[in-house]
Amino acid sequence: MNIALFGGTFDPIHRGHLVVARAAAAKFQLKQVWFVPADIPPHKQKSPVTAFDHRYAMVTLGVASEKEFIPSLLEAPDLAIPESKRKPSYSIETVRRVKKTLGRSDHLYFLIGMDAFREIATWYKAEELLTECDFIVAARPGYSLADVASALPEKLRPQASVTKLFRKEAMDGTLVLRGATLHMLPETHEDISATQIRTAVDRGGALKRLLPDLVAEYIKKEGLYRKTRTRD
Ligand code: ATP
Repeated sequence: MNIALFGGTFDPIHRGHLVVARAAAAKFQLKQVWFVPADIPPHKQKSPVTAFDHRYAMVTLGVASEKEFIPSLLEAPDLAIPESKRKPSYSIETVRRVKKTLGRSDHLYFLIGMDAFREIATWYKAEELLTECDFIVAARPGYSLADVASALPEKLRPQASVTKLFRKEAMDGTLVLRGATLHMLPETHEDISATQIRTAVDRGGALKRLLPDLVAEYIKKEGLYRKTRTRD
């Protein structure tokens, strides 16, 4: 069975995430996509993030009608540890934990948008993470998939000749390198971000195009993303 881990902050989950996960599921015959909100996202520690419970609740509501999408507690907070002492959730640890539970015929992918992949070289144990499982890199408006090879940690970066060849192939297909296998998902063009949604909520803007209805209702009910409550 093909399974993908789709990690993120999901503050909140939005239609962009769902479009990416659906496109990946169709193209790579994924039977399960696990949506994994991070308790402490390592790359978003500068700005405050909404409490894990709310983000997980929204992920659950957002994927409720999708048979293959599973809300995951893999990176939930360890409540035995005081909040101030908790460590960020590192993908390498999550992937390794998941792999221990998989069967021989299972194949694990790591699903990621191009904006996040651009920073992959700065991730904790990036080289090891890239060798642990195949990556599916999704296009995102404003970020070119052509930069996928140059975003790799230096040791894994292919020669310019390989990158050139890849560029000619319209950013589709698979880049197999020593130490990393990257599958491209150029089909997604959803210009939606969680940042845009938080702003829209605060300004009382329309949310229907951006969010699953149940998530929009939850945000309203809990009063999330109002300047006075959670965000600046
Ligand atoms: P923020 O605006 O707060 O930075 P975000 O919209 O990027 O949030 P995240 O939860 O940080 O959402 O993203 C989780 C994963 O989903 C990342 O790999 C990100 O690249 C990807 N992703 C999010 N939105 C899109 C989109 N519209 N198209 C493609 N990938 C996306």
